[in-house]
Amino acid sequence: MESYNSFNVTQQQVSEAARILKLDQATTELLLWPQREYKFVLPVRMDNGKVNVFHAYRIQHNYARGPAKGGIRFHPDETVDTIRALASWMTWKTAVVDLPLGGGKGGVCCDPKILSEYELESISRAYVRAVAHLIGIDKDVPAPDVYTNPQTMAWMMDEYETIMNRHHPGVMTDKPQQIGGTEGRRDATARGGVIAVREACRLHDVDPAGTFAIQGFGNAGQRAALLHQELLGGGRLVAVSDSRGALYNPDGFNVKDLVTHKLRTGTISDFPDAKSIKQSEVLALDVDVLYPAALENSITEDNANNVQARIVCELANGPTTPGADRVLHKKGVHVIPDILASAGGVTVSYFEMVQDSYSFFWTEESIHEHLDSKITKAYHTVQDSIKEKQVHPRLAAMLVGVARVAEACKLRGWV
Ligand code: NAD
Repeated sequence: MESYNSFNVTQQQVSEAARILKLDQATTELLLWPQREYKFVLPVRMDNGKVNVFHAYRIQHNYARGPAKGGIRFHPDETVDTIRALASWMTWKTAVVDLPLGGGKGGVCCDPKILSEYELESISRAYVRAVAHLIGIDKDVPAPDVYTNPQTMAWMMDEYETIMNRHHPGVMTDKPQQIGGTEGRRDATARGGVIAVREACRLHDVDPAGTFAIQGFGNAGQRAALLHQELLGGGRLVAVSDSRGALYNPDGFNVKDLVTHKLRTGTISDFPDAKSIKQSEVLALDVDVLYPAALENSITEDNANNVQARIVCELANGPTTPGADRVLHKKGVHVIPDILASAGGVTVSYFEMVQDSYSFFWTEESIHEHLDSKITKAYHTVQDSIKEKQVHPRLAAMLVGVARVAEACKLRGWV
């Protein structure tokens, strides 16, 4: 039985890359584990006057190449291992796109769907009070992730600046633009993925204006739907899912209407002119491009054989297990692995840090150009690694990332 513990999955990926790169035992051990882990509890007074205690984490996986960088999730199912895995993936992601950053991640075990705005603000501020000594533009820079957003970052930055008694906008990224955020951040993850799909379509002779499906219709999924059509000159979105259900329309959805419906009602359900299907069917449709944009471990050894897409662009972190990777590779599916496909967000976050440092902001056009050049370069670096080492795309991307981080550790004299 395959392991679906995401941290075990990342450790398998790192071990395999380390073995091929012939890294010594100490370097491998260093890269397998987070350098620092913080586990804490947040007592927060709720609207009903009672105190709830939330378990929370901030994990800095590796900071050899620069400050740790990675989002904060608010989700009821977070564990130390999911956060470790996400932090580790951030290390490889920032290295694959060659950013001067390391990898980190944080989380609070809570269910935002049942919390009021005031309770969310209280949790956000309590989180920062607990980690203020650990974060900063030159230490560790959080950002939003699942069920957190620019408003969360605004509260967190404000709490940090209150504690430090000075302006420090670069402590968080993906802030609202009015208080130090950047142009182009909201759609950056999806834009990076779609740019990678554009390159993959050229290389693999796939029609970019063909069909596509999206698993997970949140921030990344919605933006990917819109940008796929905008940047690739068309494309029919034929299936989509969210946590409550899945819909199919072989003629293609009107994407703008679907996004408006999701934002208005909180779900894709009840969208007109669509057939309701099982969530698992979205992964198994005969489409040109499939975007997994929900959570980890969606494509496993058990369902990978059903995947019929020509290209799988992993906007989600860790949607495919190692067993599934082998199956997809054997079937000839071109996977654009998460550490490359979803690197657009952290790339523009890095641009935000640079702009905050200078208090001078770039145009949206300039952000898009810099992002395109970073992702295109990273995509082709990974393709070169596939050819050179004769391995599947995820392993090729890991080889690029792990080699860069190992080199930084060595140069510092850590190993
Ligand atoms: P989000 O919370 O906005 O969206 C997640 C979506 O997935 C929601 O629509 C939810 O309903 C759906 N979902 C949950 N369980 C599902 C299931 N079983 N089947 C189908 N859909 C399901 O989060 P997001 O920011 O869009 O992030 C999605 C993924 O992309 C995560 O893995 C995240 O780590 C990754 N990611 C996001 C960013 C970013 O900038 N937003 C950057 C890098 C990676």
